[in-house]
Amino acid sequence: MSGIFNSLSGFTDPFSGKTKSDSRILKLPVILAGLFFFFDCTTVGFHITSEREKINFGPPATMKVCFLREKDVTDEEIKDLLIAWATELMFYNIIPEKAIVSDWKRGGYWGSTISQQLQLYPLRPPCDRIVALVGRSPVDIVTEIFSLILFAFVGFKLEIHGAVDGYTHTRGYILSKYTTLFQLITGGPKSTLIHEGYHLLGCGHSLTLTDCYKQIHFLKEAAAKAKMDGSDFFPAITTERELFLLREGVNRRLGN
Ligand SMILES: [Zn+2]
Repeated sequence: MSGIFNSLSGFTDPFSGKTKSDSRILKLPVILAGLFFFFDCTTVGFHITSEREKINFGPPATMKVCFLREKDVTDEEIKDLLIAWATELMFYNIIPEKAIVSDWKRGGYWGSTISQQLQLYPLRPPCDRIVALVGRSPVDIVTEIFSLILFAFVGFKLEIHGAVDGYTHTRGYILSKYTTLFQLITGGPKSTLIHEGYHLLGCGHSLTLTDCYKQIHFLKEAAAKAKMDGSDFFPAITTERELFLLREGVNRRLGN
């Protein structure tokens, strides 16, 4: 454990810069055993244009995204990623807007560790979602080689390119710089962000996006109502349709 975890009982909130104590960190080995639920990503589904075009997704809505970036992730890369995501979300009249970019360091090399770390951060204005952009270190390169060998011989993919929390769908990470063979298969970091972006809108995995369209429509209606009520938060929703209309609800759910 290193980086943002200053000790076994504390962490630094990258947005406020404040160090906090958190007893959950002491439980990390237990949590890593599977108590926390994060998606192991496969596919969110293929577009079915005829189904999507049946739905009126309403007026434009902005979703403010706070990025955490490791030091080798450049402004240009963030811009390119955001353009790709925004292009996809044009289908739904949702504008992912870069609200904050904060320097950050992952707490470990396993996806589960990164996921754990992200869950510790309270959601504060102006953030509607938190997306961590993981860079590339020498350890990552070794992991990639090992992962490729494993994939070639036993067909098991060790490396996960991104994940979103299943409790609130408000935060996630992507490997934003990987350039391995898997990139050719999956389409690279932009595709990963688009995929995780669907989870951030409450969609799960499926063969097609048909159910996801309905979920986004429901979320957009909730967002429009929340805005009329004076809220500055773009609501969050889980795959089970647990709706979060306030950041406080998200923070309560995650114990922040
Ligand atoms: Zn996924």
